[in-house]
Amino acid sequence: MKLVIVGGGIAGLAAMQSLVKTGYQVSLIEKSPHLRAYGAGLMLGINAMKVLESLDLSAEVIKRGQSLAAMNIVDETGELIGKSDNAWMEVKTGYKTIGIDRGALHDVLSNELAAGDVRLDATISSLVQRNKKVIITVNDGKDEEYDLLIAADGIHSSIRLLSGDVSQLRYSGYTCWRFVVDRPPSIESEQAYEYWGCGKRFGLVPIGNDRLYCFATVNASVANYHYKNMDMDGFKALFSEFDDVVAGLLEGLSDDVQLIHGDLNDQLALCMQQGRIVFLGDAAHAATPNMGQGAAMALEDVVVLSECLTVEKTVDDALLAYEKHRTPRVKTIRDRSYMIGKVAQWELPLARRLRNALMRMMPQGGLSKDLCKLLLKY
Ligand SMILES: Cc1cc2nc3c(=O)[nH]c(=O)nc-3n(C[C@H](O)[C@H](O)[C@H](O)COP(=O)(O)OP(=O)(O)OC[C@H]3O[C@@H](n4cnc5c(N)ncnc54)[C@H](O)[C@@H]3O)c2cc1C
Repeated sequence: MKLVIVGGGIAGLAAMQSLVKTGYQVSLIEKSPHLRAYGAGLMLGINAMKVLESLDLSAEVIKRGQSLAAMNIVDETGELIGKSDNAWMEVKTGYKTIGIDRGALHDVLSNELAAGDVRLDATISSLVQRNKKVIITVNDGKDEEYDLLIAADGIHSSIRLLSGDVSQLRYSGYTCWRFVVDRPPSIESEQAYEYWGCGKRFGLVPIGNDRLYCFATVNASVANYHYKNMDMDGFKALFSEFDDVVAGLLEGLSDDVQLIHGDLNDQLALCMQQGRIVFLGDAAHAATPNMGQGAAMALEDVVVLSECLTVEKTVDDALLAYEKHRTPRVKTIRDRSYMIGKVAQWELPLARRLRNALMRMMPQGGLSKDLCKLLLKY
């Protein structure tokens, strides 16, 4: 069987790793001239680490990243509201939660891919499905025929567009900045934090090598002109309400730190498969990052698809089984992430006080137990 993957992000690279190992003939088409990650850092939950272990990549990811004992949710003064006890989850499941630089994760995922065929600076200009084949025209003008096209080309998937699918992005209501800096000594290497302020959040995630991934969100109209054009001083002023840890970090930020800015959306119209095209990762089911589960979902897609292709008698059966298996799962994560984001971004003082009080009353062990159960249920 001849397969082509479109998109060399987390989903595409992991799919390539998995399918080449299974013995398929696979090509990968990536539009960028390099296999390079866009973005700053990210957190890999226990389910992501389980998949990476099955691909023999977890040891390298652990080596390149930072094991995180906890993700602490705190209010603007730094007082604890709740936490995900990752150390406890590791004891229970054997899987760590890792903070990692996106570039480092990409290096690990692209390792030893020479065995396959990776084409950079390439895109698809047209696509037709005929007689259980997908015929694509690559930008160099050549037509190519495949038994299966794996679309892993991200939230703005052009394969969805070319195949006539309707994509429906939903704006979260808040915009986001991300950057990576040296980790100040005031932030312990194994502790991640998310500050919940008034319609704003600020996140701190150690990612190893004494580096720190930071993210910040604020409620905003879609494509807000002011935020899109905001400079470093504006950014510092916008997030000045948080405690000394964040204030110290902001104070030390120089103008040459690269702030990556963008609105956060999810995908309301899921699309898992269509004829001989199968969709993975954000192309299929982008979620807002409030649970830190987008990459994990992409990785889960990969193992489930590989398994369906191995176990089912025909490709058609495999794709149907993949869709059946994955749809409820990715929908749950997308919807829960959206809801958490909404609640975390509340502005009304009374509602926020009540929310924080209720969260503090919840048994902390219960939260980690529920999360653990949810994450490993795929
Ligand atoms: C602010 C933020 C924070 C996040 N934090 C986390 C986190 O902590 N943990 C987590 O698990 N997830 C997180 N996520 C989600 C995660 O980043 C995504 O879910 C994940 O990157 C999806 O991977 P992907 O491979 O599906 O898509 P992408 O990473 O978007 O990769 C798509 C690839 O396809 C290529 N491509 C696009 N169009 C074409 C084309 N026409 N032809 C060829 N190639 C093409 C692109 O260049 C790219 O290489 C976060 C997301 C955001 C926005």
